[in-house]
Amino acid sequence: MDTIRQGTSSADYRLEDSLVIATHNHGKLREIRELIGARIPDIQAAGDLGLDDPEETGTTFEENAALKALAAAKATGLPALADDSGLAVEALGGDPGIYSARWAENENGSRDFDYGMRLIWEKLKDEDNRRAKFVSVLALAFPDGEVFYTEGTVEGEIVWPPRGKNGFGYDPIFQPDGETRTFGEMDADEKHGLSHRAKALREFAARWCNS
Ligand code: IMP
Repeated sequence: MDTIRQGTSSADYRLEDSLVIATHNHGKLREIRELIGARIPDIQAAGDLGLDDPEETGTTFEENAALKALAAAKATGLPALADDSGLAVEALGGDPGIYSARWAENENGSRDFDYGMRLIWEKLKDEDNRRAKFVSVLALAFPDGEVFYTEGTVEGEIVWPPRGKNGFGYDPIFQPDGETRTFGEMDADEKHGLSHRAKALREFAARWCNS
């Protein structure tokens, strides 16, 4: 079955077969598979298809999600889903925001979230306001250039020291509202019950996946 019913409008598209996930981030890929894998039979990871990660030159989550999804859709001829996400800390004016991955690059240029979490804490420790939110913007791009978005957020606060080894990225310093544990202390199902990415993916699945 063709994934894309060529010649019909995007309103008729259903992801019945393949979907490229345009990310090289293993944490995101794992969560996306856990959340929508059962509804989309053939999920293909950009890394396994030999696709490069385009440079994230956008100034918003939407722009960056779209450029990643479009690059993968055009390269493969398949619909492609990209997540652009990040941690926005209120007292830091929304930083690191779209630069969340970059803030975790240490002096050697390696991605190191212990380094990134400490950087946030150094800037925040003298502030009373510890409010923060995770944001996930998903872009679904089709090879003809159409792009559709869904978004999810989860509000909470930054805690120190980091707690828990689960999840990825900044999970050990983010405690969602109403919880006493960080995302790093929750198992995958608990995080999925609350997370920004799970919210955005539920909306995505409701719109694009049958049944
Ligand atoms: P990008 O979307 O590839 O620019 O990277 C987003 C970055 O935001 C990730 O590398 C993580 O640092 C952070 N991030 C996004 N979602 C999460 C999450 O669910 N938990 C922890 N960190 C996250």
